[in-house]
Amino acid sequence: MSKIRISKEFHFEMAHVLDGYDGLCAYVHGHSYFLIVSVLGEPNNDINSPKNGMVMDFGVLKDIVNKDIINIFDHSLVVNQKANWIEKVQNIDSFSRIIKLPFQPTSENLLLHFIDIINKQLPNDVKLVHALLKETNSSYAEWFYQDNF
Ligand SMILES: [Zn+2]
Repeated sequence: MSKIRISKEFHFEMAHVLDGYDGLCAYVHGHSYFLIVSVLGEPNNDINSPKNGMVMDFGVLKDIVNKDIINIFDHSLVVNQKANWIEKVQNIDSFSRIIKLPFQPTSENLLLHFIDIINKQLPNDVKLVHALLKETNSSYAEWFYQDNF
């Protein structure tokens, strides 16, 4: 049976800041992020199943990413937990969607974090093989299973 990759695209708005960075990303700013997630598996070959032909129900993949990533990170400010100014602002309403992570919120680090989250939720019969996080029209980070295993 041939294996197939299926992909789903997501979009969210997020602010971030790179603590101590020697460039413009040291200032709080936002991006329209674009996330693509691809999983590999064998299409369901049960001709009597309503899911016949599906590697994975796109709706299930959508629910996993929406629940654990999009709903949390959309319209949030993501910061390195090392940033010492956080405690000064975190009680202000405008900063109530602040997410502190133990790393700089670069596209690369965020993508690896998202991959961990997705892998914990995926059914066993599919494998995450590719993920892409696009931060601007010209900049994105990409992860491929075959680069890592
Ligand atoms: Zn940025």
